[in-house]
Amino acid sequence: MEHNLTSDSPAISQTPSRQGPARPSRAEAEAAVRTLLLWAGEDPAREGLRDTPRRVVKAYEEFFRGYAEDPVALLSRTFEEIEDYDEIVLLRDIRLESHCEHHMVPIIGRAHVAYLPGKRVVGISKLARVVDAYAKRFQIQEKMTAQIANAIQHVLQPRGVAVVIEANHQCISTRGVHKPGVGMVTSHMLGEFRENPSTRREFFAMIQSRSCTAE
Ligand SMILES: [Zn+2]
Repeated sequence: MEHNLTSDSPAISQTPSRQGPARPSRAEAEAAVRTLLLWAGEDPAREGLRDTPRRVVKAYEEFFRGYAEDPVALLSRTFEEIEDYDEIVLLRDIRLESHCEHHMVPIIGRAHVAYLPGKRVVGISKLARVVDAYAKRFQIQEKMTAQIANAIQHVLQPRGVAVVIEANHQCISTRGVHKPGVGMVTSHMLGEFRENPSTRREFFAMIQSRSCTAE
């Protein structure tokens, strides 16, 4: 999946400004969970469910904490002394937990994020945090893949960025067509990864070699 996006593309979304309806109160959010329990055929007052709305709203804070994070700010602390390192930097097999924006069910998978440093490098944990900042929102996989790549390109200005996401979508495994075990793979390549087939091949060889990860 390749799109021709420039570094000032609108796809570099930071913390989205909340437009439209105001954020409901916690009590209102909990009431909405009670409504869904009723809709499913449950009695929200039964003992086992009494605390469920509170727990669900709390879980939502964790599932969707990406809205409070600014990926550009996360990446902004960079290091310039990189000696002469000019090869691919790859963080592979980053656990990815997101939610499909169409059905509000989990998307679980992993991301591989690589860049070819220009003048700046970033701590590798930051690459994982950028993945999280976009994943912990309501997402579609294609958009999330591009957002991660564009944010890295925008801030680090490297010679290229490559992002691959492999994920399973609960909306196709537990509902609809009911096809478990179907993985969706998306990629977004910028700069040399896009223009130079040998760089792209090297990246794919690196993410496919399984020598140093137990899986
Ligand atoms: Zn879905």
